[in-house]
Amino acid sequence: MNKWHTAIWTEQFPGGLSAQSLLLVAPRGSGATDFARTLAKAGLCATPETNGLPCDICEDCRWFDAGSHPDFRLVDVATAADAKADPDAAVADDTAPTEKAKRVRPIIPIDRIRALEDLMHLASHRGRARIVVIDHAHAMNTAAANALLKMLEEPPAGAQFILLTSQPARLLPTIRSRCLRLTLPGPSRDEAIEVLASSEGGRAALALDQTGGSPGMVAELGERFWAVREMLMPVLSQRDPDWISVAGRTTDLELPPLLHLLQTWCFDLLSSRLTGAVRYHTDLGREAAAVSRRIDPLDLCRYDSRLRAARRLIDHPLNARLFAEDLLLDYAQVTAS
Ligand SMILES: [Zn+2]
Repeated sequence: MNKWHTAIWTEQFPGGLSAQSLLLVAPRGSGATDFARTLAKAGLCATPETNGLPCDICEDCRWFDAGSHPDFRLVDVATAADAKADPDAAVADDTAPTEKAKRVRPIIPIDRIRALEDLMHLASHRGRARIVVIDHAHAMNTAAANALLKMLEEPPAGAQFILLTSQPARLLPTIRSRCLRLTLPGPSRDEAIEVLASSEGGRAALALDQTGGSPGMVAELGERFWAVREMLMPVLSQRDPDWISVAGRTTDLELPPLLHLLQTWCFDLLSSRLTGAVRYHTDLGREAAAVSRRIDPLDLCRYDSRLRAARRLIDHPLNARLFAEDLLLDYAQVTAS
């Protein structure tokens, strides 16, 4: 379990999970899924520790770790492959910021909730709880949410539900009111950097900043993101960029990371101009200040709108290279004005 969750565990769950339906609200990418899984594992463990944590050595804990505990189910969003198979399983997303992510907004379709029915109708295999964790619970579509609501309204004896969300307002009010609600804290900046150091090394702090402070999203950036950033940022952060050299390399610029970098850089320029601080490109604070000083903030706002509109088209550009060149040309015009 992440150390920023230790205090809330000690405070709320010394005797394990007692609520029949629990709604955990936590910031995106803050490790809350681990917390929910630990809670479920503790509820199934034959010999939990005195602090309520799972023992990690009994048969139930070993089954749980192997992903084969018969009294446990984890429900999550449909993957991109599932979405392809089922066109109703995903809708366009214009908010996802990163490379891998998510040309479609993933949802939890009804069959994932229906698949819980066998667990609900059978008795517990191990004579203890049956536990369901629903990650990204806000991603349930209406049919799935209604099917779950039915289960929450008439839960079989011994069945427990843990719903996890970063966006509780997107859940049906009737689902929210059936659950005991608990807000989990996210990590402090230092805690997040400490965790990221093992995968990101010296760039851990910058990686965290690139996601706007969500450690769980850092892995989604991917190496292509860093390659594009290395190519692009030295150019964007110059007072007089060498656009000809950039134009020759636009085929190397993948659109999702390009757009993410342009949007965050645009945010930073505006932020630097208005507040003197940057949020994303914390290694380029001085450069952002120098560039932003020469730009009319209104032009930056217009360019930002242009980038938002571009995000809606990013999946279907007629010509990716022209699309990238167009975005960069607009930037050149804004910064030259
Ligand atoms: Zn155990």
